[in-house]
Amino acid sequence: MSDPVTPAAPANRFRDSLSNGEFVLLVESSSPSLSNDPIAAGERLAAFEEAVLSVSNVNTALAVTDRYLSLDAWRAVEYANALREENRDRHVIYLSGRNTTGEELRQLSDAAAKSRLFNVVPVSGNCVPGDTLRECRKRVFSESVGVIRNLAERKEPFFLGGTTNPYAYTPFTMMGQYFKLVKKLNAGASFVVAQAGWDMLKLQSLRWYFSGRSLFYPMIARLVLLTPNLVEKILAGEYPGINISPDFQKILEKELRYSLNQFEAAQYRRLELQAAGCRLLGFSGIQLAGAETPGRAKIAAERIGNALREFNSFDSWLEEYNSYLARAEMSPFTGSFYLYDHTLRRAYPDEEIPVARDFGEPEITPGEKFRFKLRRFLFPHADRQRAESRRLLKKLFASCRGCSSCRLPKTEFICTEGCPKRLPNGPCGGVKPHGNCEIAPGECVHSRIVRLAHWNGTLPALEDEILDSGWDD
Ligand code: SF4
Repeated sequence: MSDPVTPAAPANRFRDSLSNGEFVLLVESSSPSLSNDPIAAGERLAAFEEAVLSVSNVNTALAVTDRYLSLDAWRAVEYANALREENRDRHVIYLSGRNTTGEELRQLSDAAAKSRLFNVVPVSGNCVPGDTLRECRKRVFSESVGVIRNLAERKEPFFLGGTTNPYAYTPFTMMGQYFKLVKKLNAGASFVVAQAGWDMLKLQSLRWYFSGRSLFYPMIARLVLLTPNLVEKILAGEYPGINISPDFQKILEKELRYSLNQFEAAQYRRLELQAAGCRLLGFSGIQLAGAETPGRAKIAAERIGNALREFNSFDSWLEEYNSYLARAEMSPFTGSFYLYDHTLRRAYPDEEIPVARDFGEPEITPGEKFRFKLRRFLFPHADRQRAESRRLLKKLFASCRGCSSCRLPKTEFICTEGCPKRLPNGPCGGVKPHGNCEIAPGECVHSRIVRLAHWNGTLPALEDEILDSGWDD
């Protein structure tokens, strides 16, 4: 009897590009509204795919986003079925946990596996634009950490990405983002996608933090090709997690006073510089938003391909980048926090583990101190007891909402159920740059946890625990 032969893993050119260090350009296509005729929508996607893949000076593929800003849209898994079968291993699809139960996610994962769409980026999802806090609280948000773990445990060869928002400008929001990303990597993500923004220092800090901890995962930076309409929408807050700094806004307003052609030329040049900079900072690729017609996508991709050739040294790139942006301040407010000194003076840190800036004294109110001490006194071992134990006291003193496993001692005695999306593992991508919640008034629950951990002196231990174990819910 012959030995059973292990079936060869299916080809995955996207995974291979990342592991071979071949720079990847993913061009975004959003799943269309359900009111669109599916055949016509499929034909449009096929035409888009053809245009993107016809670009020869850079390694291109698609990233199909999943009901990004609306609920009235096709699921990316269904929509991506219109992609040519032989190309599906090149592309990436998103899987949103918003308004999606665990069972629905299982069915969508089955459908992705059946269609051989194995490159998947699970996200917890934004609030729907226009949602009130109450409406948002009523929605189901299946958190990306758990979805990544479930997909990683399946028998099919899913190749998973984890997203993060590096544009966080307090140490506590920023560390919350980094910790959550570590959990995603520990859960089974093999590459990273950074939320869109324009602050290259923040992209560099992300790289330095992870490489300083020997977490050498391929990273893809999401960039946006701006149009006047998009600028307006971002400024109106319609794209949670994407922010334009006051200085950058002034530059854009100046550019908008010129003709549309001149505005476009300025955006293409900015995009080229950002894309080339990302590669020189060690990113493995970029994901381009805002170029959703075949013509625009092709022009943008070709220009990016040329820019990658134009800039092959960090110093020449930096000189051009600084002169083009006239050293505009990309941080959203005075006193914004950056983790490292002297970023963007050199591409890589001089030390193996770059020295981080001090977080300073956190502002803690007397009320916060009192609540922390009271809860620690009342519930020191709540994570080792049945969740129902001392429920009434927890309701009274820790705003307990009655979840099935209590983790108060692990979260500085702040119940993560206070998050409108009930995300247990860390901040969503919609958290505001100064640490406020995407939808609720006041500080993000997860930012508050990190701030209290810093005050309490437990932040290094929390970081070590997450780095070592990927502790999650
Ligand atoms: S509390 Fe934080 S994680 Fe929850 S919705 Fe608000 S910003 Fe997002």
